[in-house]
Amino acid sequence: MDLIRQALKQYFNFDKFLDHQQDIIRKIEAGNDVAVIMPTGAGKSLCYQLPMLIRPGYAIVISPLISLMKDQVDALERRRIPAAFLNSANTVSEQRDTVKRVLNGEIKLLYVAPERLDLPAFRNLLQNCPPHTMIVDEAHCISQWGHDFRPAYLRLGAIAGEFKIPQICAFTATATPMVRKDIAVQLKRPQMEVIVAGFRRPNLRFELCNTPKAEDKEALIDKILREPKPTIIYAATRKAVDELAGNFGVIAYHAGMSDAERTCAQDEFMNSPCPVLAATNAFGMGIDRPDVRRVIHYNMTGSLEAYYQEAGRAGRDGEEAECRMLFSYADRYVHEFMIDLNNPSPELVNSVYSVLRYEAARHRSNTIYLTLEDIVPLTAAARSASQVGSALRLLEKYGYVARGGRADARGKLCFAADIGKLLAEHGAEKTQRSRFISRVGGMFGNNETAVTVEELSNIAGLNIEQVRRVLRTLDGDCLRWEPPFAGSSTELLRPDEAELEIDFSEISDKRNFELEKLDQVLKYAQTSRCRQSFILEYFGEDSSGWQCENCDNCRGNYAVGRELSKEEDAAAKMLLRIVSKLNGRFGAGKICAVAAGKISPDIAASRLDELPFFGVLGDFKPARIMAFLRALEEANYLARTGNPLYPCLEITPEGKRLMQSKGTVCKLNLYGVSPKNKEAAKSSGWEWKFFSK
Ligand code: ADP
Ligand code: MG
Repeated sequence: MDLIRQALKQYFNFDKFLDHQQDIIRKIEAGNDVAVIMPTGAGKSLCYQLPMLIRPGYAIVISPLISLMKDQVDALERRRIPAAFLNSANTVSEQRDTVKRVLNGEIKLLYVAPERLDLPAFRNLLQNCPPHTMIVDEAHCISQWGHDFRPAYLRLGAIAGEFKIPQICAFTATATPMVRKDIAVQLKRPQMEVIVAGFRRPNLRFELCNTPKAEDKEALIDKILREPKPTIIYAATRKAVDELAGNFGVIAYHAGMSDAERTCAQDEFMNSPCPVLAATNAFGMGIDRPDVRRVIHYNMTGSLEAYYQEAGRAGRDGEEAECRMLFSYADRYVHEFMIDLNNPSPELVNSVYSVLRYEAARHRSNTIYLTLEDIVPLTAAARSASQVGSALRLLEKYGYVARGGRADARGKLCFAADIGKLLAEHGAEKTQRSRFISRVGGMFGNNETAVTVEELSNIAGLNIEQVRRVLRTLDGDCLRWEPPFAGSSTELLRPDEAELEIDFSEISDKRNFELEKLDQVLKYAQTSRCRQSFILEYFGEDSSGWQCENCDNCRGNYAVGRELSKEEDAAAKMLLRIVSKLNGRFGAGKICAVAAGKISPDIAASRLDELPFFGVLGDFKPARIMAFLRALEEANYLARTGNPLYPCLEITPEGKRLMQSKGTVCKLNLYGVSPKNKEAAKSSGWEWKFFSK
């Protein structure tokens, strides 16, 4: 038994390594810098803890949260592994004691928050007793593009350099291209090996459903839901969730609902045997129902990481589960709209800001009572209230304005009729109106009172909507009600500053970055490759030919691939040659026309009819040539390029190889072309999704 295995048993009392642990441990033990990206629960901690135990010296472990540190150190201490943490929760004497143990070589793993590395006392320790390894846990905190960015993580690389810490190893569960790249760059270890592993979920069947119109989506949901299974339907907007809930009688969940309503929805989802829940991306954190059998995305997501995370809530129990995305190209615009709102342009922000300054000067007050809607027509650049809102959010973030919350939205209420009479009349509280008069009138009497609708709702014991209705009916009758200012007020905090100092280039970078991520989702939708391996490759996990054999594309491929006849093989290779010559500049339609020799004004205008191979496949019907092109793309000999809306075809490295090979006869899914294969094509359920029918 080698040292590593022995340590696994001795220190951790485990008999076997989990997937990938052994390889990673060997690399770390050898002294390499590695960044390990594996899903939560994959056993990353052990990957760095174990190698530290079997060699001299100690490691500092950078961890972002005190609670995480404490859990880890407690667990290590239970195993009698010499570990400790230094953080603000320690007393001074505890800290002194820990430092002493480090200096005496009694500690193997010292957990600290990243900010501690800037403290003089800790720098002294690093100076006097340098660790041989810096472990960076939750390393995604290093990426400014993520949610959990911690500025102190950015300094780790420099500190490791300064104190000549020989080895850095980083760990995270966040596999996005940006995080992956950022880790090595920010830690200043460009040679760092990045290992992404363990994200495969072969029990999940990924499928893309082409649903160009809203009716298509509804019809499909209707069909899918006929088979009862625990299901989550994710939709991009609250409105869509409400509509799904209304149309199909399913549970709704989104951030626009009250806490109580959301808790109720969650409980129902957790406790019913076979619930169907429609939700926005607000749903999922900390909710762990292992037997979700279906996750349907009613709209595509804004990124593949969001998609894989949400879809990944299916089949946690390891049993078969399906993940379908209902694709319509128009959903892209919803996302683009949201991306624009999150990243407003300088024109928009400046124009909203100048309106605010103008209004403030006009009214001689730095508090401005204009709703978002009021501001729209006053600006040059805003076309909608939500755009104004996005500009205000940014101005607020940069400290130019403060926005009044809804809580201070008080209306004025005054009972006009004699209150004693009213109370006598309505004391029995038989109706909502009586209840309101009896309780609110009993409290306020005939005094004019500034009050919020929420407060009235509490006093009257009616919900907000009921209070509003009662107020509407009683206003002008026995009481007067002047509703509160409908928008929240805006206060100028730096009224004298006319010029905004906002880093708009950063905002525009972020916008482009979000658009790129969106494009990846479109590529996913349009790929003819194994869907899961497509996503894993996006994450950076080496799929080296692995296929899930479960997604729509895999099943399609395996079901109907057949060897071509000599004539068909020659045609396929000819098409590859044509595509390669046309150099990714034309779509399938034009390529087909060139091969078949079909002249059209378009073809003539681009002078494609003058090419030497124009019409070489003149004996083939265009439909048959199209089928070849589809099959070649499906088999990854051709790929799409350019604008996804009007994709062009280009040859792939596999395609080039096939084109040049003399002997090999290629295998393609030419269903519907030869009568023999018609049945096979039908039974596969595979349909060509993106070429117009
Ligand atoms: P991560 O940081 O990747 O989310 P952890 O390091 O917290 O995961 O480990 C998750 C769980 O797996 C822990 O309870 C840990 O004790 C357990 N674990 C780790 N390695 C092994 C192993 N080789 N055999 C059995 N359990 C293990
Ligand atoms: Mg961890």
